[in-house]
Amino acid sequence: MYKRVLLKLSGESLMGDQSYGIDNERLEEYAQQIKEIVELGVQVGIVIGGGNIFRGLSGAAKGFDRYQGDQMGMLATVINSLALKSSLNNNGVKARVLTAIKMEPVGEFYSQPKAIECLENGEVVILSAGTGNPYFTTDTGSSLRGIEIKADVMLKGTRVDGVYTADPEKDPTATKFDEITYDEIYNRGLKVMDLTATTMCKENDLPIIVFDMDTPGNLIRVIKGEKIGTLVRN
Ligand code: UDP
Repeated sequence: MYKRVLLKLSGESLMGDQSYGIDNERLEEYAQQIKEIVELGVQVGIVIGGGNIFRGLSGAAKGFDRYQGDQMGMLATVINSLALKSSLNNNGVKARVLTAIKMEPVGEFYSQPKAIECLENGEVVILSAGTGNPYFTTDTGSSLRGIEIKADVMLKGTRVDGVYTADPEKDPTATKFDEITYDEIYNRGLKVMDLTATTMCKENDLPIIVFDMDTPGNLIRVIKGEKIGTLVRN
């Protein structure tokens, strides 16, 4: 179905059942799912969040300066990216970390041509440090990178299996959409991603599939066109 994808993983889901940090089993599960689609010949860019380690906003609530807090958050995404790269490498998958903030030799400084070159060579590129700017999120980072690398689709792997009329973890009457437009998301006030990220996808016509990444095998199902999750489009 898809030749090139941008996979967005939340930092929080890397925690598994822990309350902080990186759960090795979850990391390994993700690496195996990614390996399956790489072996199909899909070009994979990945953006991973940092909320399992640090979030700028919650830092600011505890008294950190927001600018500094966001920098800490961006560094948290780099830690997660390195962990995922290591896990992919252990599974025999070639992967490279590119960073939106200069920090060689931790990762190479991101540029669009470099990212595309790696993808065309069959390497997984992990696009870390978000957008490199405070006051943004990794959802916006993944919209931006997805558009830049000309991904066919953004795959937003979460612990929920799609977009619902209300938060299914709080409202048992919530029902799931198989498909929804960006406009409906605005009109219903649904929180799929933050509005900056959603608007970037809408304006640049990048469809999103929201799906449950925590069930092994789901990533390859999405790639093969199985209708799991929710497709968000114009
Ligand atoms: N962040 C930022 N600019 C970006 C991306 C992320 O400042 O372009 C910071 C921000 O502080 C955020 C943290 O990094 O709270 C972690 O990212 P995010 O919250 O998106 O991770 P997730 O919630 O997906 O785990």
